[in-house]
Amino acid sequence: MTKEKLALEIIERLKKEYPDAGCTLDYDQAWKLLVSVRLAAQCTDARVNVVVEGLYEKFPDVDALAAAAVAEIEEIVRPCGLGKSKARDISACMKILKEDYDGKIPKDFNALLKLPGVGRKSANLIMGDVFGEPAIVTDTHCIRLVNRMGLVDGIKEPKKVEMALWKIIPPKEGSDFCHRLVYHGRDICTARTKPYCDRCCLQDICAKNGVE
Ligand code: SF4
Repeated sequence: MTKEKLALEIIERLKKEYPDAGCTLDYDQAWKLLVSVRLAAQCTDARVNVVVEGLYEKFPDVDALAAAAVAEIEEIVRPCGLGKSKARDISACMKILKEDYDGKIPKDFNALLKLPGVGRKSANLIMGDVFGEPAIVTDTHCIRLVNRMGLVDGIKEPKKVEMALWKIIPPKEGSDFCHRLVYHGRDICTARTKPYCDRCCLQDICAKNGVE
């Protein structure tokens, strides 16, 4: 099977398995997703979702967060780890949104990449989730799973995985596909040495099982 055909088959099967898979970070305004993706580095989404409640209670909008002292932000986001650098980035991002974008998130991948602490993974997540644009989010689940499945061959560097996937995933499917990989990676194709292949809807087409 070609990688393109394999990708289409996997996309369809994961759609059936996880019909409602979406972003696991909670947010009701776009700028909040920007805050949450920064906090999610080396932290679980579940913890981020709890921590941001306290953050928004004290600083409910972009202006309030932009005006907040970095130390005050750090105090609240510390449970997510890397508190100092995350607080610094969040503060700087909010100031840029306020001053350059009228408090909004720019709908431009390269503009997003220029924001402090925003890398390709975060920029893709925002383009896909906030703006409904084509996006490939290469997080740890994505990289592990697409290698196991045989969609890429031994590529671990996030940008290279992203570029390889752009060639075989229909653009409009990318964002949801990556969300579904997170669900599948947590439940079935886990990071343990032996994932739960016996319970996997992809076992007859997965490269890890020796399927060409
Ligand atoms: S068959 Fe196994 S390795 Fe392949 S996707 Fe499923 S759980 Fe992962």
